[in-house]
Amino acid sequence: MTAAAPNQPVLPLARPVTVLHGVGPERAAQLARLEIRTVEDLLLHRPRRYEDRRHLLPIAELRPGEAVTTRGTVVALGVKWFKQHTKSIFELILDDGTARLHCRWWNLPFMEKYFVVGNEVIVFGKPVQLKPRTMDHPETEVIDEGEDPAIHFSRLTPVYPLTEALPQRWLRSLIWRTLTQLESQIPELLPETARLRLASGFPTRAQAIRLLHCPETQADTEVARRRLALDEFVELQRQIQLRRRNFESKASALPCGGDNHLIKRFLARLGFKLTEAQTKVLRELRHNLSGPHPMRRLLQGDVGSGKTVVAACCALMALESGYHVALMAPTEVLAEQHFTTFTHWLGPLGLVVELQTGSRKTGQVKSPKSRVQSHEAGAGVRQQPTLTIGTHALIEAGFAPENLGLVIIDEQHKFGVAQREQFVRKGHYPHLLVMTATPIPRTLGLTLYGELDVSTIEALPPGRGSIKTFVRSADKLPKVWAFIRDKLAEGRQAYVVYPRVEESGPNGVKAVVKEFETLQQTLAPSRVGLVHGRLRPKETEEVMAAFRTGKVQALLATSLIEVGVDVPNATIMLIENAELFGLAQLHQLRGRIGRGAHDSYCILVAAAKSREARTRLRVLEDTTDGFRIAEADLKLRGPGELLGQQQSGMPRFRFGDLTADLDLIQEARELARQFPAA
Ligand code: ADP
Ligand code: MG
Repeated sequence: MTAAAPNQPVLPLARPVTVLHGVGPERAAQLARLEIRTVEDLLLHRPRRYEDRRHLLPIAELRPGEAVTTRGTVVALGVKWFKQHTKSIFELILDDGTARLHCRWWNLPFMEKYFVVGNEVIVFGKPVQLKPRTMDHPETEVIDEGEDPAIHFSRLTPVYPLTEALPQRWLRSLIWRTLTQLESQIPELLPETARLRLASGFPTRAQAIRLLHCPETQADTEVARRRLALDEFVELQRQIQLRRRNFESKASALPCGGDNHLIKRFLARLGFKLTEAQTKVLRELRHNLSGPHPMRRLLQGDVGSGKTVVAACCALMALESGYHVALMAPTEVLAEQHFTTFTHWLGPLGLVVELQTGSRKTGQVKSPKSRVQSHEAGAGVRQQPTLTIGTHALIEAGFAPENLGLVIIDEQHKFGVAQREQFVRKGHYPHLLVMTATPIPRTLGLTLYGELDVSTIEALPPGRGSIKTFVRSADKLPKVWAFIRDKLAEGRQAYVVYPRVEESGPNGVKAVVKEFETLQQTLAPSRVGLVHGRLRPKETEEVMAAFRTGKVQALLATSLIEVGVDVPNATIMLIENAELFGLAQLHQLRGRIGRGAHDSYCILVAAAKSREARTRLRVLEDTTDGFRIAEADLKLRGPGELLGQQQSGMPRFRFGDLTADLDLIQEARELARQFPAA
């Protein structure tokens, strides 16, 4: 974890595992597959589970379906072949004096060579039947003569993740021996002052590592996990704080606070008044933009809270100050939409708005440099500050004009800190505003966006119609369609979302291309448009434009439309196979409606069978609070799923648990401040 500083002796724990007795190149290669390279990695290898081998259940007392550990002597074994020698069952029969246990493995005939009659074997598994008593594919450990029972047996025994050809008992012995030998040399990572802050009951790091491998009780294992998780979080927060301090000492800010002359005109013709929540956030933003350090800020707010208009004001502050602004959206559809919105808003103020995506470029795309006087010229007046809108590819492609004052990233948690900074660096530390599409749980926020200050728009604009959400099973669809036809006849518009693009999946999972014709018939005489990720951006934009202007009344789409699309007259959101989406994603989709004065309806249709899925979906019936939904989603599906597959910036933890450790992360932030600056 921590590399040794130059010209210091290599710490014992930082040395490669090959320094340990019994670890040659072959074992080292196997350990490397478990990401164990140093002695410290070995000591931090976290058991998968613990077996209480002090109280083994006699075979006679096994219950069906209950996972237990038991032991017995091998009395018989053999492989049975069938289906012309293509399938096999290996069976092992154990006897412990109270009864016999049959253990079976399908199609693993080579298992035979690991056992002989007379072996003592420990098994962990679930009996599938009692007549005869049988376990399928249990985990086993053969007890060797001459092994130390204190390591493998007469204790709450750790069971470690393994890799091919690495025996459990060998690894357990190695960890035990290494711990015994080096325990006194495990350094404490927290400075004494920091440790004093900790609630009593927190062990030292060395004690925690001992408890991890040699717990007395199950509770010990959680104490160990939390202490080691704290160390991980402290390390991460230190890096975050270090980066931030570094950054602030290096980078000075361009003065982008503006003088209000454009914003005033913008707000006057906007058509609505900013909410107090928006105004409060804007004050924070202006403070940063005119401050000594480049802004690093995250703008959070529930779906529909009006982040775009806040971003526009922020852009205007920079433009007023004479600097360029870049706005990056996660998809071309959104970039197009932002382009339409911002052209409409900023065009009348005489500002230049450009679009640059993979498929479309507007205006002349020569470097804006040529149209701007160098800011060293100090004239104060710079001509034609420009807002350039694009996808994330914009900056990847090296877009970094001189006098770029502000970068706005409208993102879906796609980026890690390093990537974000790398993007922004290209333009000499402009101010950075990151907007999240949905609220994110605090644990994730502090981890993923820890180096950003956070502004939250805490309330929705007034005058919104309500959104009613219903969870329905697929057999209710005819009624749902009748309802939607009524609403379309009243002049409203509807989104219909299916999970797939082309091929329908098993169990009636619908694909938009396949269902397009059917849906046109179902909703006739209303007109239906179709968008999905495999259309050319130009085709997508044509359909979106037709939907925006009401030429098309219903839009059949994949979850492509989940982020940001804004058509206030659309009041119906029908999502089929809703069980296949995460809650946060559904909330984001639902955020497409409820944007105008009319009441809106979100109908989540789940496969008739999946009762469990319908229970999960009820969270959406109960609340429209995006923070609560995100928390629920995190608990149900974990951070990886919540953030989407593309997430690459997510730090990985051995011990930290982002669904449970908010208190530790907050503690770690405090503790990290007490470290001397490195
Ligand atoms: P999100 O925060 O989800 O990105 P948007 O910025 O798309 O939300 O805003 C949602 C809708 O609310 C837009 O149609 C926007 O014009 C409108 N809106 C934003 N702020 C206000 C306000 N203060 N009063 C009324 N409507 C507003
Ligand atoms: Mg938005």
